[in-house]
Amino acid sequence: MDYNHDVVSDLIQGSVARILAGLPQGVELVAAAKGRTPEEVLQAVQAGVKIIGENYVKEAKEAYQLVGRKAEWHFIGTFQKHNVRRNVLDIFDMVESVGSLEVAREIDRKCALMDKTMPVLIEVNSAGEPRKSGVLPKDLEQMVTEVSRLQNIKVMGLMTMGPVLATAEEYRPYFRETRTLFERIRRLELTNVEMRYLSMGMTDSYRVAIEEGANMIRIGAGIFGSPCQV
Ligand SMILES: *Cc1c(COP(=O)(O)O)cnc(C)c1O
Repeated sequence: MDYNHDVVSDLIQGSVARILAGLPQGVELVAAAKGRTPEEVLQAVQAGVKIIGENYVKEAKEAYQLVGRKAEWHFIGTFQKHNVRRNVLDIFDMVESVGSLEVAREIDRKCALMDKTMPVLIEVNSAGEPRKSGVLPKDLEQMVTEVSRLQNIKVMGLMTMGPVLATAEEYRPYFRETRTLFERIRRLELTNVEMRYLSMGMTDSYRVAIEEGANMIRIGAGIFGSPCQV
């Protein structure tokens, strides 16, 4: 262990402890691990993180080799149809970023071959931004209804990123909109749909997200430091 390793380790330990101490009961922390080494991911788990969020399959596999089942694994990146593979689905306990019916169908098809049911969150493009991943609010109800008919996938809630904004407060309307959609779909009581998780909020916005009803937050920089600093 060199000096640098200890510094990084202390940073991760301190930030995880601080975040966990400030979370209300029932809010789950996902450590967003993109761009981090497997060792950093392991340190986050040793510091108390229970869920790792991965954007990239290659990174997920590398970190998984080291960390294994010491944590749960959530996919939070953009799934292209072609990278929905069985050996990828094997790693993940949840896919938080299902943004199209096409990807939902592909996950369902592959999971059927594996005899597995994948819990998923539907990603909402809450600001209705062009070329951004996720389902538009106006299309959400129909999308969830169609996904609910798939046998090997189970909708467990919604996820949103929101636009890239300058201040936490500016995120509030998008989080509120997503919460409203979450409640509306919950009231439909669709078969095979359990609206349990509302995943929204990142390092700069998670406090506002929790105020607006998030019970799952995804934090990267706030745990691991800014990518350029470490
Ligand atoms: C990177 C990322 C996060 C975390 O962002 P930070 O600002 O580093 O906390 C959360 N969710 C997704 C989908 C991400 O890609």
